[in-house]
Amino acid sequence: MTAVRTIAELDRSSVLHPFTQLKDYASGKIGDPTIVAGGKGIRIEDAQGHSYIDGFAGLYCVNIGYGRTEVAEAIARQAYKLAYYHTYAAHTTVELATLSDRLVRMAPGKPSKVFFGLSGSDANETQAKLVWYYNNLRGQPKKKKIISRERGYHGCSVISGSMTGMSFYHDHMDLPFPGILHTGTPHHYWGAEPGEMEESFSRRRAAELEALIVREGPETIGAFIAEPVLGTGGITPPPAGYWHEIQAVLRRYDVLLIADEVICGFGRTGADFGSTLYGMEPDLVTVAKGLTSGYMPLSGAIVGERVYAVMEEAAERVGSFSHGYTYSGHPIAAAAANAVLDIVEKERLSDRARVVGAHFQRRLSERFAQLEIVGEVRGVGLLGAVEFVADRQTKRRFDPDLKVGARISKAARDRGLIARAMPHGDILGFAPPLVVSEAEIDEIVDLAYRATKQVMDELAKGT
Ligand SMILES: *Cc1c(COP(=O)(O)O)cnc(C)c1O
Repeated sequence: MTAVRTIAELDRSSVLHPFTQLKDYASGKIGDPTIVAGGKGIRIEDAQGHSYIDGFAGLYCVNIGYGRTEVAEAIARQAYKLAYYHTYAAHTTVELATLSDRLVRMAPGKPSKVFFGLSGSDANETQAKLVWYYNNLRGQPKKKKIISRERGYHGCSVISGSMTGMSFYHDHMDLPFPGILHTGTPHHYWGAEPGEMEESFSRRRAAELEALIVREGPETIGAFIAEPVLGTGGITPPPAGYWHEIQAVLRRYDVLLIADEVICGFGRTGADFGSTLYGMEPDLVTVAKGLTSGYMPLSGAIVGERVYAVMEEAAERVGSFSHGYTYSGHPIAAAAANAVLDIVEKERLSDRARVVGAHFQRRLSERFAQLEIVGEVRGVGLLGAVEFVADRQTKRRFDPDLKVGARISKAARDRGLIARAMPHGDILGFAPPLVVSEAEIDEIVDLAYRATKQVMDELAKGT
């Protein structure tokens, strides 16, 4: 274990980890890092040989599972042939043009072109610039504000982090930037008035959005960005009628819709895209995560016909499209994405997520819905969550100091299951690889159930 110790020390003294309490890590209070050493199917293994079921597919991205040699080979082939060239000034590669054509054929809305980046955050940064560019070019220079939702997650760069509607992404970092506004969360459990049905709750959220647009002045509102299903904000499918109502408002005020499909895209919800599932017709679509199943960093800002037509039309006047990264359209990432999409298509992972997902939702409800600390069990496809409350009748939350969500997640991990303590509230989140079997689902739900019972016992004893 000396090697493991040495790596832990190197890491502790040099890596700035995301979402890690820096002092507790530096002082050793939260122990050594988990050195992730390998993965196969739905499992990962650490350097000490412990195996875990990854019930969260990394960060909802490893949809095809770990250790797929087809993808490793596609990456190696491209690296041997041509590891890099840029895509500026009309340069391309076979892999990139093939991938882009595929995305334009499969994406929701009326896709025309794809701008490639490396992360969901940078793709949403691009989307904001596209909204501003589009409205400048069509002579609407005031139409620039972008509305997102409280508890929405869109990344953590400057504009995408501003779009993210959770204060701990903003605090001490001078976000959100002006011009990024937030409207109400479409979460019926917490947001509805007593007795309010989902449809009327959705209408109320749409009316609030409309009131915000009117208050700010419709001539100042450029776009609305949203995930079809709220992800990091708590894995919350929209209430009935929500997308129908919201889109009617957007159309009324000529506001673009950006669908952030970073989690939902490529099968997660049981449909190819969340937009397809909920009848959304986005003007701009963001993809990342599932696009490469995390095998390489790659994202896409997919530009619909309406926006692209204005850009092309203005080109003689404004010159080249002046936006691009050194690694836009990286050929190895494109090769990885093509190999991943081959698997997604060949193994019909969207259908699989629908069928196995139905089993998952059923099992999750059966096991959790009646527990006395469970407020809500929710999800769609292979996305699911259990939200814990101190009192089911009054929906009283647990004292945050009890860290109930984090403790249940830790207890699951001690049993060999990774299920994520979602950052917003006491929520245990699930997003297993889409290749998970029904038997493995049963194992996941069972481990999570036993972890929950353990923490319930501890709470009852006051420990
Ligand atoms: C993860 C995520 C992002 C940000 O992607 P990164 O690659 O982490 O920058 C954006 N939107 C959604 C919906 C996400 O889940």
